[in-house]
Amino acid sequence: MKDTLALLVELQRLDDELRETREARATLEKLRAENAESLQVFEGILKERALRIAETREFCEEKENELKSIEDDNRRGRARLGTISSQRELTALNKELETARRNNQKRTEELVKLLGELEEVETDHRKKLAERDALAGQMKALEDELAERLAAKEASASQHNARRAEVRERIEKPLLARYDRISRGRNGLAVAQVLTGNCGACNMAVPPQVYIRLQKGESLEACNNCQRLLVFADSGDAEAAAE
Ligand SMILES: [Zn+2]
Repeated sequence: MKDTLALLVELQRLDDELRETREARATLEKLRAENAESLQVFEGILKERALRIAETREFCEEKENELKSIEDDNRRGRARLGTISSQRELTALNKELETARRNNQKRTEELVKLLGELEEVETDHRKKLAERDALAGQMKALEDELAERLAAKEASASQHNARRAEVRERIEKPLLARYDRISRGRNGLAVAQVLTGNCGACNMAVPPQVYIRLQKGESLEACNNCQRLLVFADSGDAEAAAE
């Protein structure tokens, strides 16, 4: 009976390992998908902003060109001053030049304001790009860490599977069927270690007479509450179970 109990404990341990490997793989796949989606959303926002910045920059360049052409007009106007012969013409031209000057000043102020805003937006955009890179780096580091752990688990999975087949071979068929039935109904946990008088899985107190039989390890006991197969946890196993 002691051998059977040990085999059950080992079978449970192997099933736990294999389940953890499957779960680790699922976790990593989910994380990768979520990270990729988050980055895609971030990327979309950044692209949108980059487009708007480019449009604003283009608008500023247009305004700058307009200003240049106004200045050219003014220069031509001033050049005409020398050819003026009448006071009336002079007054008209001076008026024209003054209007142009005011107009030019207003446009320049507007452009300076717009360029200032553009610079702010561009600075913020560069900050966001850096944040995106930092986030992508963090995500990658976490994914790599999980992938590394998974690789270690997967490397030993074939050994675990081989050993599992051996162990199952050595357990009597009806008991194995019982183990599988409980395992299916209890999230893969068919064997519970009894720690400090309680079922290690559902935490229900084990009756004293059952506890005594468990300590002897000569009979197969099951939890009255969760029906899992019970084994007595010696101090070594208890430490392992507590981890
Ligand atoms: Zn229980």
